[in-house]
Amino acid sequence: MPAKSHLVTPGPTPVPPEVVAAMSQPMLHHRGPDFQAIAERVRTRLREVFHAAGDILLFASSGTGAMEAAVTNLCSPGDRVLVASAGHFGERWVAIARSYGLDVVHLRYAWGETPVPGEIAARLSESGGARAVYITHSETSTGVVADLRAVAERLSGSGALLVVDAVSSLGAVPLAADAWGLDVVVSGSQKALMTPPGLALSSVSASARSASRTAALPRFSLDWGRVESFGSTPAVSLVMGLDAALELLLVEGLEAAFDRHRRLGRACRAGAKAMGIDLFSPDEDRSAVVTAIRMPHGIDGRVIVRAMRERSGVTVGGGQGELAGQIVRIGHIGYIGVADVTAALAALEVALDEAGAAIERGVAVAAALEAYGERVPA
Ligand code: PMP
Repeated sequence: MPAKSHLVTPGPTPVPPEVVAAMSQPMLHHRGPDFQAIAERVRTRLREVFHAAGDILLFASSGTGAMEAAVTNLCSPGDRVLVASAGHFGERWVAIARSYGLDVVHLRYAWGETPVPGEIAARLSESGGARAVYITHSETSTGVVADLRAVAERLSGSGALLVVDAVSSLGAVPLAADAWGLDVVVSGSQKALMTPPGLALSSVSASARSASRTAALPRFSLDWGRVESFGSTPAVSLVMGLDAALELLLVEGLEAAFDRHRRLGRACRAGAKAMGIDLFSPDEDRSAVVTAIRMPHGIDGRVIVRAMRERSGVTVGGGQGELAGQIVRIGHIGYIGVADVTAALAALEVALDEAGAAIERGVAVAAALEAYGERVPA
């Protein structure tokens, strides 16, 4: 019997059967009326998820493509931009902006820190303003979810456009593009939106759209105007899958989904703490996307991630970049339930025990279920 596998990463996440079925429908032509109607419905549903009334763009690319588009469509050569980063994905904004020769003011927080709204606003004004501020909502490499609403409040009236990487936060934790004043919000299909990787999305405010008309950085296939005039992407099957996933999400209700992710986060943290190991990500409800767990002294996280997969069929994330080997990341968004989180904790317990770590055994799963709100037999 082939080993059963459990995908418990913060993306790609498991895909519900309804989404797989929608993606298995016969092919439609991407410019034909049948598909255009589906794409329009997807955009309407996404407006609800982004809480944005303006343009919604769909790109046949990974999330990084929509990030790049949010640089090339807003900036001209030599423009100053501010990036506030606190991990691997925040630093990606810096890399993209530098590769286009922009003047990057980098407010760099150490990986694992939480950006401070007042410090971002202060750096922006010290720098004499910027064309745009780029920030990461949920820093998937560390588990930190920034207080985006407070950041947006502090930046309002600054004259800079606010661009948000919400690749792992859209549909996972609260976000309201229009009400919070977020000009561009970038996301991807493969995280809380429960669809395979390959589709990127953006909400674009009227001011951002108008800035894009004069922005002079070179761009072609990711040009917003071109993407919009195509009407939709040729990634027909992914859009059909996303349509089904958004229906599931909206029927559950965004608030109910956010509550589920919060409770799963609590469960994951409670399980790790019961085992006696330290959290790397903050022990707070906002950290509802992915829990990063610090490896005990002398234990290599890469060995643990491999053992969990080989021994228990559980795939989790390891540490990226400078955190390689130091942490293990368990995702809890999208089509992931408490049974997946407890499977991951159990697999982690086995792997750590076999690696010789001094951990408390036999308590993590019960602690997780209790924190989730399940009754645990006495
Ligand atoms: N930003 C964040 C916060 C992410 O989690 C990811 C994917 N892990 C990306 C950007 C990049 O997305 P993609 O891999 O789809 O390019």
